[in-house]
Amino acid sequence: MPGGAPQTLRPFLSRAEQLYPETEIVSRTHEGVVRYDYGEYADRTAQLANALDEAGYGDGERLATFCWNHHRHFETYFGVSGMGAQLHTINPLLPDKHVQYIADDADDRLVFVDQSFLPKLEGAVDGDPDSFGSVDRYVVMGESVPETDLDAVAYESFVEGQPTSYDWPTVEEERPAGLCYTSGTTGQPKGVEYTQQMLWAHTMALQTPQALPLSDDDVAMPVVPMFHVNAWGLPFSATAGGAKHVYPGPQPEPADLARLIEEEGVTLTAGVPTVWLGLMEYVKEHDVDLSSLERLVVGGSAAPEAMIRFFDDRDVELVHAWGMTETAPVGSVAHVKADLRDADYETRLQKRTKQGLIVPGLEFRVVDDGGDPVPHDGESFGELLVRGPWVTTEYFARPDASEAEFTDGYLRTGDIVTVDEDGYLQIVDRAKDVIKSGGEWISSQELENELMAHDAVAEAAVIGVPHERWQERPLALVVPTDDADTDTLDETLRDYIGSEYPTWWVPDNVVVIDEVPKTATGKFDKKALREEYAEESLVEGRVPDDAAPE
Ligand code: AMP
Repeated sequence: MPGGAPQTLRPFLSRAEQLYPETEIVSRTHEGVVRYDYGEYADRTAQLANALDEAGYGDGERLATFCWNHHRHFETYFGVSGMGAQLHTINPLLPDKHVQYIADDADDRLVFVDQSFLPKLEGAVDGDPDSFGSVDRYVVMGESVPETDLDAVAYESFVEGQPTSYDWPTVEEERPAGLCYTSGTTGQPKGVEYTQQMLWAHTMALQTPQALPLSDDDVAMPVVPMFHVNAWGLPFSATAGGAKHVYPGPQPEPADLARLIEEEGVTLTAGVPTVWLGLMEYVKEHDVDLSSLERLVVGGSAAPEAMIRFFDDRDVELVHAWGMTETAPVGSVAHVKADLRDADYETRLQKRTKQGLIVPGLEFRVVDDGGDPVPHDGESFGELLVRGPWVTTEYFARPDASEAEFTDGYLRTGDIVTVDEDGYLQIVDRAKDVIKSGGEWISSQELENELMAHDAVAEAAVIGVPHERWQERPLALVVPTDDADTDTLDETLRDYIGSEYPTWWVPDNVVVIDEVPKTATGKFDKKALREEYAEESLVEGRVPDDAAPE
């Protein structure tokens, strides 16, 4: 190892602890706002590591979280990876059957769980105890444990009395440090492992001016959940830069976000468009001081142009970024290139609505159906392929799924893009057949299979239709069987899906059609359906209020 030390996460924290022991970490929790500094944070991560060691967990094992964004979740970030163990952040908003599949697939040994997610987790465990067979302890994120059948201990009792220093091992850079599942494509969710080196490289790339650098001047508030690709890596990069951290806690409402921005002086925050649409409405109706806020990062779905204008008018730079679970996640950022900075506002705006410029350290290609590169003319389109030190080359324990998604070390993103003369990528379509509602995936194929298992359904196709607040919502197109009662079909099928899936998965409308159009190879022609039904009105009263809350 010519460099003298492996590329791991640990030095980011030890530097922050040495240089910024008094810089704050602020967390909104169900017990109120908790406030401490990097000094105490480092002590508590050591206590956590000691507690895990003593209880027999660690080296090479997978420890899971089922939590919102708060300081205890952040303690697992450096605490678990620093021991040489792997932090598996489970998405608690997923349907139970996905949570069960994921827990089973990952063989997690322990789960850190929020009080508010405890009933959801209990339900998943109850429904299929075997899938949690490898888990022998649940740690509830708080001072006490509510009534539960699970073998649970409170986080604070777990770490209490443990030494505040830990003999952190030198972990090899190839060691898996993180694991996150994506439901972004067909079939079962797929795990993406992040090695220490991948997370190190991603952090260093984020810290370049071409990405989303954070320094000791910054106050960073990741609203994007810590169960979504490590909150886009911000907890690591904020630590690397010595920034103050602000964690918005369980189910933050726009009023909570506005208050934290004002009171904590947040300079950078990040999340999916749905979150910022909520904040925009709030800002229009209330007197909110956004003067500290310099950058607002939008990703996960496309940033609407009106949103960029809204924040520009308030002197907040909206930074549009693209990424995937497979890319750890940041892949491109829509900064305005130096030679375009003098261009008029509309020209610059047009660049900023695109998904942006590939970040330093990654390579990309855009290829047509035949695998040939498309010209960079802003019009020709093809599939985006990326590769780089923090882009995965396989899925966890899924060689079958891996083959189709990687070519020559490049990840096939499933995003159909154009590249303009200046190198800006713009997503124009998705090759993958999925729906993204409020930043969370809904598998259209899974819903179709479920619908087609119903007696009243001969054929069913589910597509995403554009929606202002959630970006997309599912619409079901159904060919009924001869004896189906079409008058009650909509209600019957929505109840049926609702009994198996969370409310936000239930199609907002069920439209009866004569036939599902097919492609030449006999597959459902989703593209044709998306075009035909793009304007189909959803039944507004049905669109759930908390569809995929982020
Ligand atoms: P995930 O793995 O859940 O992070 O989802 C990744 C996918 O989300 C990408 O492949 C895109 O389809 C979509 N996505 C991410 N960022 C953007 C963006 N800025 N604009 C449009 N779609 C995006």
